[in-house]
Formats: sequence, C-alpha cells, structure tokens
Amino acid sequence: MFDKIVIANRGEIALRILRACRELGIKTVAVHSDADRDLKHVRLADEAVCIGPASSAESYLNIPAIISAAEVTDAVAIHPGYGFLSENADFSEKVSLSGFTFIGPKAETIRLMGDKISAKKAMLAAGIPCVPGNGEPITTDNNANMKMAQEIGYPIIVKASGGGGGRGMRVVHTEAALLSAISLTKAEAAAAFGNDTLYMEKFLEDPRHIEFQVLADSHGNAIHLGERDCSMQRRHQKVVEEAPAPGISDELRSEMGDLCTKACKDIGYLGAGTFEFLFEKDEFYFIEMNTRVQVEHPVTEMITGVDIVKEQLRIAAGEPLSLSQDQVTFTGHAIECRLNAEDPKTFMPCPGTIEQFHMPGGPGIRCETHIYNGYKVPPYYDSMIGKLIAHGDDRKSAIARMQTALHEMIIDGIKTNIPLQMDIMADNAFASGSQNIHYLEKKLGI
Ligand code: ADP
Repeated sequence: MFDKIVIANRGEIALRILRACRELGIKTVAVHSDADRDLKHVRLADEAVCIGPASSAESYLNIPAIISAAEVTDAVAIHPGYGFLSENADFSEKVSLSGFTFIGPKAETIRLMGDKISAKKAMLAAGIPCVPGNGEPITTDNNANMKMAQEIGYPIIVKASGGGGGRGMRVVHTEAALLSAISLTKAEAAAAFGNDTLYMEKFLEDPRHIEFQVLADSHGNAIHLGERDCSMQRRHQKVVEEAPAPGISDELRSEMGDLCTKACKDIGYLGAGTFEFLFEKDEFYFIEMNTRVQVEHPVTEMITGVDIVKEQLRIAAGEPLSLSQDQVTFTGHAIECRLNAEDPKTFMPCPGTIEQFHMPGGPGIRCETHIYNGYKVPPYYDSMIGKLIAHGDDRKSAIARMQTALHEMIIDGIKTNIPLQMDIMADNAFASGSQNIHYLEKKLGI
C-alpha cells in the first residue's frame, strides 16, 4: 500500500479521501489554495502545502504546483477526487511521467471516455445500448446533416463531443431549426471547450437518469455495485440521488451490470467508474462514463457495505479488488441529499460564516461534510458544502430517516437548500419513485 499520497481536491471529498487513507495507514498531504487554509482536512492531514491563490485556475487546476507538492513531500501517489483535474487526461499523464501514481484510470482511458464521440463508439463496440444516432461527427454538409436528423427522427439533440457539466447541447424539434442550432452549438463548443466537434442523437423526452457503479483492478477483475437513480436534477445538476433505482428488477440490474463490467474489460478500465444511462420505457441508453469517484458514491456504499474510496486506493496500489461479484450484496435503500450554500428559492450561492452547525444522527444517518462552527464558506468554489445520506430497510424508511435528519440539522449564518430538500422528501411524486429528469424543474416552475 502507498506510504503517502497527495489529496488534490478540497471540501467534503478531500476529507472523505483523508479518512480512507487514515484507515489504510496512508499518510496524507493536503494541497490547498490560499483561501482554504481553514479547511477541515487541511488541519487533519499529516502535511499541508499551499499551492496558489484562491482562484481554482491558479491552485486546484495548477498541475505543476500539485506535482511539485508531491515532490517536496515525498508522496508517491495523487488522488484527484471529483471535479477539478479528476478527468483531465493530461494531468493523469503528467502525474505518471513525473513518477507518481495517478489514483484513477490510465490517461488513454480518460481520453477515450472524455470525448463523447469516441466513448459512444467504444460503448457501441462493447455492446452497451446507446441513444439512437450513429455517433459520427457532424460535417459541413448541410444535406447530409438533414438526412442524418431525419433518419434519427425529431426531436434530436445536438451535442458537443468535448462537452461537460450539462453544457454544449441543443435540442432541435424541427428541420427548420436544425442548421442554425448546429452553427450556434458549434460556436459555443469552440468557445467553451476549445473543440467544436458535434454529433447528434435522439432526444429522449421523459427519461430517468440511472447509472451503474463499477470497480476494475489491474488483475483482470471487474465488478459492478448496482445502480443509482439521479433523476432529481436542476439544470442537469443532481440534487438527490438514491440506490437502488426504484423499479429496477434484480434481473435487469445484473444484466446491465454485467454489460458494464464487460465494457470495463474491453476498454482496459482501471479504478472506480460510473456508466451513466438515460432510462426510458424500460430501456437503457448510455450517455457518458465518469472516470472518477462521484459525489453520490455513498448511497452505493450504504447498500453494499463496500468502501469505494478504499477500493480506489487498493486498485491504484496494484492490489486486487477486495471482493468478487458474487460477494456483492444489496441491503435496504439509501438516499443522498446534496447540501448547498445557496438560496433555496433563487439558487444564488450564499457564501459566508457558519455560525452554528449541528450534525444530525441516529440509525442509518451519515453526514459527509467539511463544515464546522465558525467555518467560512468561501465564494470561489462550488456551493456544495456537504451531503446527508440516509439508509433504511426500504425506500420509505430511508425517506423517513432523511426527513428526521433534515429537521434535526442546523446550519445557521448562511442560507442553504435544506428547505428545498425537505420539500422534495415530502413530495408525493418523489414518494412514488417514478419521477423523470424534468420533474424537479417542473415542480419548481422553471
Ligand atoms: P455532460 O457531460 O454535460 O454531463 P451528458 O451527456 O451526461 O452531458 O448529458 C447531461 C444531461 O443532458 C443528461 O443527464 C440529460 O438530462 C441531458 N441529455 C443528454 N443527452 C440526452 C438525450 N439524448 N436525450 C435527452 N436528454 C439528454
């Protein structure tokens, strides 16, 4: 196992990684921006290195500074967490070339799955069901583009191959709107991602978002840990996640899970990853793969008892997975509410000082957060300040536990989305478990 690693992230995930390291006897180096000296994991880490000013571009995205921090502290590996550099193939490559282990898949895999066109091709080849559309790049031949859209059938969605974060997509309902949609999306994609390659596929109108968690080691083993439903979204951002997904049968779970583990072997996947699907009329359609740990990984941990971050560390250190597929069991139901420092009505970020914080407790409750009394939420980063996870024997008891915990939790001094989460937990449609990805926005009237 590693002697010492750098945690190249901040907030709750940095603390989560630090805790896993402690359990495995790995020493930790926290690298942080000037604005993050008071982060909980920075105080708890064995060593801390300031890598730059508050701006992410100069700190958490500063590849030379992070690698230098690993060099000066004699660390042997770097865990990227999620967001920031976690899916940056160049970072992974530079980490390896500098003699460190990148805790994640190989750079070539990140590159393959980071580009939506190459990812779709690889998944089609692996037998994973994809959204209708051949995944070929859109050319400058207008007639060919119109023909391609007709073949798929409207509505279609024009997507940037290099897109991410819910950006670089445009829905087209009629042929009359197609060509202008292509040129607008192309210009946006060039500006936002430095890559104007586009493709088109069928636009699914009422899908749910269901994703499969996988783990693959360097000994040829790959397993899945079942699925999560992340349909409760606002602006393509997940708000609530749960596992298992309501209504997915054991047969369908193992059929899809097996396809995902086979795809892992086909692409030489290494580490923890997630296959994201849209699910409509009982069919799965692949949309993308996330080649890193995800925000919502705890719901899977709660129902399987597998520590995904510890598995990531073991895999990166060359050890085999700690369990085989037939040792994976699913117990009960888990729900996660993301906690954001934001106005629950306008969604405007609300940084500031936490004057009082009381963590909820009780059976099945898990709170993943870096905040504490007196902690100042800085204005420079994502507004997520933590996650509350509730596990119960079934979905109903998980919801009831979540409601109790949300009522018990106190975060004073800043506005948070706790009122919105309480509203969702009390919602009848949510209770029925069949909501699609548009439900929350419709409920909110946006
Ligand atoms: P990103 O990398 O930006 O997250 P994704 O490809 O994962 O992009 O898509 C993000 C979201 O956009 C999906 O969760 C879904 O809400 C919507 N979306 C993407 N493709 C389609 C599609 N073919 N039909 C309907 N909605 C889609």
